[in-house]
Amino acid sequence: MSTTPSTAPDAAKVSNFLRQIIESDLEKGSYAQRRWAGSPGDAAHHAKGEPDPARIRTRFPPEPNGYLHIGHAKSICINFGLARDYGGVCHLRFDDTNPEKEDTEYVDSIIDAVRWLGFSWSQPGNDAPYQASDYFDFMYRAAEYLIEHNLAYVDEQSAEDMRHNRGDFSRPGVDSPYRSRSNTENLARFREMRAGLHADGAMVLRAKIDMASPNINMRDPAIYRIRRATHHNTGDTWCIYPMYTYAHPIEDALEQITHSICTLEFEDQRPFYDWLMEQLCAGGLLSNPPPHQHEFARLNLTYVITSKRKLAQLVNEHKVTGWDDPRMPTIVGLRRRGYTPHSLQLFAERIGVTKSDSWIDYATLEGCLREDLEHRAHRGMAVLNPVKLVLTNWDDVMGVGHLEPCTQPALPHVTEGAQAPAPRHFTLGREVWIEREDFEEVPPKGYKRLYPGNRVRLKGGYVIECTGCTKDANGTITEVNATVVPDTKSGTPGSDSVKVKAAITWVGVANGVTAEVRLYDRLFLDAQPDAGGKDFLGSLNPDSLRVIQAIVEPSLANAEPDQKFQFERHGYFVADRINHQAGKPVFNFAVGLKDSWGK
Ligand code: ATP
Ligand code: MG
Repeated sequence: MSTTPSTAPDAAKVSNFLRQIIESDLEKGSYAQRRWAGSPGDAAHHAKGEPDPARIRTRFPPEPNGYLHIGHAKSICINFGLARDYGGVCHLRFDDTNPEKEDTEYVDSIIDAVRWLGFSWSQPGNDAPYQASDYFDFMYRAAEYLIEHNLAYVDEQSAEDMRHNRGDFSRPGVDSPYRSRSNTENLARFREMRAGLHADGAMVLRAKIDMASPNINMRDPAIYRIRRATHHNTGDTWCIYPMYTYAHPIEDALEQITHSICTLEFEDQRPFYDWLMEQLCAGGLLSNPPPHQHEFARLNLTYVITSKRKLAQLVNEHKVTGWDDPRMPTIVGLRRRGYTPHSLQLFAERIGVTKSDSWIDYATLEGCLREDLEHRAHRGMAVLNPVKLVLTNWDDVMGVGHLEPCTQPALPHVTEGAQAPAPRHFTLGREVWIEREDFEEVPPKGYKRLYPGNRVRLKGGYVIECTGCTKDANGTITEVNATVVPDTKSGTPGSDSVKVKAAITWVGVANGVTAEVRLYDRLFLDAQPDAGGKDFLGSLNPDSLRVIQAIVEPSLANAEPDQKFQFERHGYFVADRINHQAGKPVFNFAVGLKDSWGK
């Protein structure tokens, strides 16, 4: 059974180490004996269930403390993509064990982002995402189990002593004086912690493993702390909260996850993950076989920051307009910039999954969007830096005030058949807007566009011949003049009678509409803005946004919000999801026609 509509890139899947692990597990039947009771739960709960219809279970476990970014998109595509490809299920789980930082605004945005990317976590009878805080009762029970089996103790050392006695890479740890307390005494103390009899930070519960382990994470890690904070789900029920390293493996196990995929920085935590699973499975609290953790390299993208905390700083210090600013690498920002779910899935597929950290060139991401839009984005003409062109003989040869109807295909490569979109319609009259750079009074060598005496075609319209220009007192060109060459309209038998070396884009003054166009550039000038602890605010690009007034043809003015276009010769643009309105168009620059990154 698959949980996900097939919106994945069509390209054949490239194998990677995670696929190999899963294929090998499926072949060996490593997880074939698992049962699934229809909802998360302990060993007894799942024992009552059916053999799990999902061949594998993966999960995407964000902490709801910010908006998701492009790095999370990679993780989402990996986890949901693997479940889809191997007949499994991927869970969306809010890792909300930390009471202080969570917010329902973030929960909603995460749900939206995963859905928008094209994935679903629905299972029969179960549509809601999971929340780790629903497992607090079990986590507490498991902690008491560890205490009763001499596998955990309450430590009352000061935080400073605890840090010092943990040792470091060259120095083994020193046992806490509280390490040898009896199980009964530990249990009583832990229950006092839960009952609120001790101050925040007065003591912690620690796993009892090995203070001399070469892996510092195994030197009796803290698993519960006292923290009086109201939790968004459990309110004031708890004043003790589990630590992430303890909570996460339990969350995976209760959900019958088979492959728990995370980023490389958790590699050193894997021994504790396995230790905890072993104890709780042996005690019959969790069902066998337990989940296994597998690490992959996180995404590092040039010119981009992928840390929720630092992205929050950009928002809070008003360096950008919000989490969904089109310059932000958040999923909402990318979406507003014109990125499509397909382009992000393609990106995830293309960068692949590896076990060693590297930097991906931003051009790779842009290439995926360009590739997607090339085939789908309707074409249109927009003049970004307009100057008026007057066809001085128009009224004489075409008729006074005549507006000539012109049409062009919306997709030049799909003009016939049921798939072909309706063609664009616009008019040509005596006055049109052209790009200022398309006229030169004294043409530089090789210049093929308008200069006195030269002929060009107005794309989709007539051939015209330039006669000169008008200037104001400052010498600024206010108007370009030309004459229309009759009987040369595109698509008519006479169109080839006059040869020209260039066709220029234009918009008729009679039906052009003024649009706000937001020209975005990279947010940072440094390719690795926060590497090595650099102050990323120091490399903010002061010119990352330029807002201009452009003139667009009618088909663009009538765009739906979020609709993407190729502005011919300029690049891809999207009608802004938030601010674009009929009659008041607003477009965001998405990506150029060619890779100009780094130039
Ligand atoms: P941040 O540092 O931005 O807060 P995080 O890792 O703390 O990120 P979580 O919400 O805990 O964010 O992450 C959810 C999942 O997304 C985790 O499994 C994590 O490994 C993965 N993830 C986060 N950042 C990246 C990244 N840059 N590349 C790939 N996966 C990532
Ligand atoms: Mg985090």
